[in-house]
Amino acid sequence: MNFHVMTLFPDMITDGLNTSITGRAIKAGIMSVTAHDIRDYSDDKHLKVDDYPYGGGAGMVMRAGPVCDCYEDIVKCIGSRPRVVYMTPQGYTFTQSMAEEFAKEENLVILCGHYEGIDERALENIVTDYVSIGDYVLTGGELPAMVVIDTVSRLVPGVLSNEESAQTESFSDGLLEYPQYTRPADYKGKTVPEVLLSGHHANIEKWRHEKALERTKKYRPDMYEEYVSKHPEEFT
Ligand code: SAM
Repeated sequence: MNFHVMTLFPDMITDGLNTSITGRAIKAGIMSVTAHDIRDYSDDKHLKVDDYPYGGGAGMVMRAGPVCDCYEDIVKCIGSRPRVVYMTPQGYTFTQSMAEEFAKEENLVILCGHYEGIDERALENIVTDYVSIGDYVLTGGELPAMVVIDTVSRLVPGVLSNEESAQTESFSDGLLEYPQYTRPADYKGKTVPEVLLSGHHANIEKWRHEKALERTKKYRPDMYEEYVSKHPEEFT
């Protein structure tokens, strides 16, 4: 899978993603992340890409021209018009199921805004998906883009090793994940639940499912209600 990030701060993207699991996948050629500097498409002699907002008001707005020209260059390079995800606090909140949908794309463009955002006409021209990472405002779209890329990349075949499997994690079955423990079995007097040491797989699965339900009910009552309505047989 190929991610193309349109940004004013390409180093943020490459520095952030060329390490750990994403870095390993990039090196192995399983995925690529190319940061495209929108500033390279400025027609201004000082490479300015922003201007004052029409109608007045605080801050600056990224101009439509450099953003659209940057996208058209990506289109020319890859020979198709890929989906464009604009990171914005005004978008739909990012979810695991959105990540699953994005993971099906061969090429995904992610557009990062800065300042007060981007001229609406550029968005109308090229954006297919408006995505927020939560109800708060960051200074730019680079951290949100990295959140999306990290999440999507874990679903790309070959990115995670067997030990890092995404199969049984929180959200994969509509519940938060059960608590995890590793050695030692006794840490300063706090012991690992007996059942996990028993080797009895059916009992371990049952315990984990109960704990997942307990956690989801406590921390995400909305998810719990949805789970109960989809699995009524478990609760009769
Ligand atoms: N004026 C904009 C508004 O009120 O909706 C906020 C602009 S914000 C300071 C600058 C950029 O950061 C945005 O264009 C967007 O790309 C990114 N951004 C900020 N918060 C975000 C969030 N919660 N999710 C995704 N992107 C965000």
